Amino acid sequence: MTATPLLGGPTLPQRRELRTDLPGPKSRALLDRKVAAVAPGVGLSLPVFVAAAGGGVLVDVDDNVLIDLGSGIAVTTIGNSAPAVVAAVTEQVARFTHTCFMITGYASYVEVAEELNRLTPGDHVKTTALFNSGAEAVENAIKIARRHTRRPAVVAFDHGYHGRTNLTMALTAKVMPYKDGFGPFAPEVYRAPASYPLRDGLSGEQAAARAIGQIEKQVGVDNLAAVIIEPIQGEGGFVVPAPGFLATLAFWAKEHGVVFIADEIQTGFARTGDLFACEHEDVVPDLITTAKGIAGGLPLSAVTGRAEMMAAAHPGGLGGTYGGSPVACAAALAALRSYTEQDLAGRARAVEAIILDELSELRDDPRIGEIRGRGAMIGIEFVGEGGRPDPDLTTRIVAAVHAQGVVLLTCGTYGNVIRLLPPLSIPDDLLREGLAVLREAVRSV
Ligand SMILES: *Cc1c(COP(=O)(O)O)cnc(C)c1O
Repeated sequence: MTATPLLGGPTLPQRRELRTDLPGPKSRALLDRKVAAVAPGVGLSLPVFVAAAGGGVLVDVDDNVLIDLGSGIAVTTIGNSAPAVVAAVTEQVARFTHTCFMITGYASYVEVAEELNRLTPGDHVKTTALFNSGAEAVENAIKIARRHTRRPAVVAFDHGYHGRTNLTMALTAKVMPYKDGFGPFAPEVYRAPASYPLRDGLSGEQAAARAIGQIEKQVGVDNLAAVIIEPIQGEGGFVVPAPGFLATLAFWAKEHGVVFIADEIQTGFARTGDLFACEHEDVVPDLITTAKGIAGGLPLSAVTGRAEMMAAAHPGGLGGTYGGSPVACAAALAALRSYTEQDLAGRARAVEAIILDELSELRDDPRIGEIRGRGAMIGIEFVGEGGRPDPDLTTRIVAAVHAQGVVLLTCGTYGNVIRLLPPLSIPDDLLREGLAVLREAVRSV
């Protein structure tokens, strides 16, 4: 087994083992209690309840061992309960759990900021502010951009996803399930067409010209504080824009004093085979939002950006009770060390090679519109006649894969994309086994 030389090595058995049908009796009992006790708005896509996780597996309360190809939505990139994170958190939690950084400081917050300033794209002078969730980071990036430009409008893109709070719902494109009935939404948010090569057939420059033309006509650059974009769209379908789209947009933004915000909450931290997805296109964002993979599973998020823009917000204008908690910062320092010292971007590229190899025989299947993505972030888009999205087929394949004990997520504006987000700590043979289950399900459904 070629596991994670780097990550200390998982201690759980790294093999798939089903002792019951899924969900098993203990998970079913917990599911009944969930239905009675938890608001139904909080969904559950594979109703097993987890007792332990690490390496490439989740162990449920019925002792089933499942293969994890989702990483809790790109969060446990360095592995669940990664030993370095466990040690750092344990040590911190025994010293102190909270002071509120806005009241009395602690070194780890400053160290996380220093690391993010150093690691994020661009060698300009940067500063960082820490928060709890991705949505909170996005909200604060918008606050900073508005304060810096003294303009109100923000442009987000078709298929974009930026969170579930009021402002981020407005930025998010897809109505179901994220927005339906939850309005009214924050004003001064506009949407522009993105680049979706499979569906629009445009070059990056053409798609950027289309977006810019629409923004200039419908919003006007003098009113525009920021554009916010995911360099590879996550929830929207793992859409990789055509080459040149991001760079053209970033160049135009710079020319017009519009803040270019890269939302790297899902793509960040080695996931795409570089530390950040912007690096593939040599795009240097003004502000970058990060979260998910940042702290090995602890809640932490950040806005990192040009020092002069970040300075637009007055003291006390940014922050929050828990933002940059000492426990999350300890975890982040351990996680960030793993990303850089253990070349996890290289590991993500190796994972990509394995995924593409295992899925290569599916490429001739007419129901597959495209297999795309970068690194350990690969999507499979399913289509029917005439390239029409096929969400039903996608749902049936995922159900078949789940029943076999492989955790797999979907995404896409049309719900027709399977997304692969394995932890980088997954042993190669386990990854291949999970992909074989997927391949079999595609064949048989
Ligand atoms: C998940 C995600 C968010 C929201 O993060 P939360 O921590 O769920 O608030 C924002 N942007 C992108 C690109 C994401 O993938």
